[in-house]
Amino acid sequence: MLRITGFRDLRDWDPDLRAYVPLEPGAGNLCGRCGREHARVYEVTDTESGQARAVGSTCVKRLIAAGEFGADDVALAQRSARKAWRDAKAAALEQATQTLAREITVDVLGLFVRHSVQNQVIDRKNKYTGNAERVLKLSLGAFSAEVWVNVSQREPEAPSSAFTTERALCGIQTLARHMAASALQHGGRPVPKGVRAYDVVEAVSWAVRQAFEPPRALSEVLAA
Ligand SMILES: [Zn+2]
Repeated sequence: MLRITGFRDLRDWDPDLRAYVPLEPGAGNLCGRCGREHARVYEVTDTESGQARAVGSTCVKRLIAAGEFGADDVALAQRSARKAWRDAKAAALEQATQTLAREITVDVLGLFVRHSVQNQVIDRKNKYTGNAERVLKLSLGAFSAEVWVNVSQREPEAPSSAFTTERALCGIQTLARHMAASALQHGGRPVPKGVRAYDVVEAVSWAVRQAFEPPRALSEVLAA
């Protein structure tokens, strides 16, 4: 009796074409049964001898038809193939997302280098509750972000002390989010099919935040 003990698909997934990229001749695996080249490779193990062979998908179908496998293994072969397809697709989308995010991060960090971030502390009444509230407002060109500051005894009146590093970083992350969303909309960079704008924007905002850590780098960017 034979068992399927592994599966891999050697092709890459192209998110634009929504299809596998065909392998170049010679890049596949030679079937251990018929000797032909295959991109979808099953590891087939003989349960008696323990011997394993890498077998192409066509030969696996023939072995299934010949009743060489148990019924469980036929289902397993189908599941393996579906899982390989999903994994390849997810990996390709993740890669496309990260590539686009890296490009936009460079653009966004360029804006931070060319402009300093204006910051002010605003005391106002919350428009819904009417309670006093204090926000830090960061702006860079047309972009702005507000970070809420708790007004309490733990938060002294002096505005500068409310302006902690963590809040500044949160504000910068929000600014970066706005800038990345704008770059995606107006930047002329094509968004590959299947890539979610939200994922790109989040990846950029975290990359920008990390670029400002350790915190001492903040002082180089923020206007006094
Ligand atoms: Zn074969």
